[in-house]
Amino acid sequence: MAFSGALTLTDLNDFITPSQACIKPVEQSNPAPVHDPGAALTQIQVDSTGSYYEVSAVGRTDVDAKKLQTAEISLNDCLACSGCITSAESVLITLQSHTEVLNFLESNPILPAAAHRTPVLSIAPQSLASLAAALSSSSARPVGPAEVLARVRAFAIRVLGFEHVFDTTFARHIALLEHAREFSERRSGKGKEKGVAPLPMLASACPGWVCYAEKTHAEMLPFISAAKSPQQVMGTLVKEWMGAKWGRTPDQIYHVTVMPCYDKKLEASREDFCNDTYATRDVDCVITTGELDLLMREKGWDLSAPIPEELSPPSPSLNPLAIPELLAHPGSSSGSYLHSLIAALVASSQTPLTHTVRTLRNSDYEEHTVMDESGATVFRGARCYGFRNLQNLVRKVGREAGLQVGRGAAGRVGALRRARKAGPESEQEKGYDYVEVMACPGGCVNGGGQLRPMLGQEGAALESLPATEDGLEVQAPSAKWGDRAWTKKVEEAYWGAPPTPPPTPPPEVIGLEEREEEKRRRADRLAVELLYEMCSPGQDPPGDAAWDVHMGERADEMRRRLFRTQYRAVEGEVVGLAVKW
Ligand code: SF4
Repeated sequence: MAFSGALTLTDLNDFITPSQACIKPVEQSNPAPVHDPGAALTQIQVDSTGSYYEVSAVGRTDVDAKKLQTAEISLNDCLACSGCITSAESVLITLQSHTEVLNFLESNPILPAAAHRTPVLSIAPQSLASLAAALSSSSARPVGPAEVLARVRAFAIRVLGFEHVFDTTFARHIALLEHAREFSERRSGKGKEKGVAPLPMLASACPGWVCYAEKTHAEMLPFISAAKSPQQVMGTLVKEWMGAKWGRTPDQIYHVTVMPCYDKKLEASREDFCNDTYATRDVDCVITTGELDLLMREKGWDLSAPIPEELSPPSPSLNPLAIPELLAHPGSSSGSYLHSLIAALVASSQTPLTHTVRTLRNSDYEEHTVMDESGATVFRGARCYGFRNLQNLVRKVGREAGLQVGRGAAGRVGALRRARKAGPESEQEKGYDYVEVMACPGGCVNGGGQLRPMLGQEGAALESLPATEDGLEVQAPSAKWGDRAWTKKVEEAYWGAPPTPPPTPPPEVIGLEEREEEKRRRADRLAVELLYEMCSPGQDPPGDAAWDVHMGERADEMRRRLFRTQYRAVEGEVVGLAVKW
């Protein structure tokens, strides 16, 4: 079982490098060799099966090749050195698996039993893209996220017994609205007195990054946006807003999400996302794309087989709340956080603005600058993915804010003190206003829980294997996580329009062609409506209400309760090689 991407990325070049303390000595059970001063040095050889042997370096035939024990790293060996995963967290992760989902569904009493819980499944667009890429690479015609969503919905409802299946793009829409609102608050200096850092604001949707910051860079926490991630906004919507409409309390709903990484399991387990009143979590169980794929295979569901429903919009009975589906947010396949801020800035400007993009160290680190007509910089942001870039970013942000990076809580106190004093006006040189930070190289389409390319599939990179006896270098397709060619395929699938719709769609399926602009307007309207409903059930919002205008103290408080969260430093206590949290 693969765990956090950070834990499994030993063969990639862009993740936290294990520190010295992470080296696990291999116990050698073979008898100690007889000391022979003239003995030759030995060397390690790897055979075609991947086994390791210690052999004589000078060809002595009297020294038998000794098979060596393969070093294995389990979660119990993890010293939680750099935001990877702790043993307590590993327990939380094992509590969230596809077998857990099956166990729940099998034991869920059927209606009208009072103990029945309404099972709801929400799937991330990156997971849909991963499944679509896998299907497309083995099929004659490309398969798009819309078709995959229809097929997953059919599987979850018909085979597993889920009652509702959604994608998480509407939740992401709300997360982006809240993100933009918080950015404008910080830019205007609002909340400084409460210790809210001004800028740069750092994205908060990646639990890998948040976990890393909490454990090793607490001084960065004031900069991280308080807006919830799309997964957790979806959790709130399902348990509170939809639940109220279905006449169910939060504990009467069982909410499962399908996500591109294992880190999302940790996120769902955070105490901030537990509803103490009803003793339930906003997201009860998170499974990865790979686990969903496994679940479908175990149940004999062929995801490559088209179903009639994928040619028509979901029936009103499946989507009674008319939630817009597969909302596209242009920008990045990791949520478009940076792009949505730039788009809002450009849209609200009275004068023309110029947006330029510059790639820094690699394609995972881009700098975005928005300038006015006079050439003055009005916004400077970055898209920063992967731990190597992320570490550079932390140093840069720390330097610009005058912080001592890596000092944990002590550095954080300094950050708060300086944040109170500092403000956009005091900046000598224009630093970043915003950074879209993601832990995975390539972003969420390359999450650790996504499907890998199968051997021989298009997109699988060729990898050199040890030379054969006759000296020929062998190449074989790699099914490793992080394969760049494969990540590109998933990225393409993510942005892909529904593939080759029927040439002349009958009138009843015109809805499938709904223009993105209309979908977005509907999403904006619904977002405001739901906020009003949560504040004053039954009360319609005024016609001109928008997310980013002041809607009264009550709505403001409600929005913060529903869609914002908080972070806290996790202090590590290092004793020799042991680390306690
Ligand atoms: Fe998960 Fe995306 Fe962060 Fe990777 S970048 S850890 S997939 S949230």
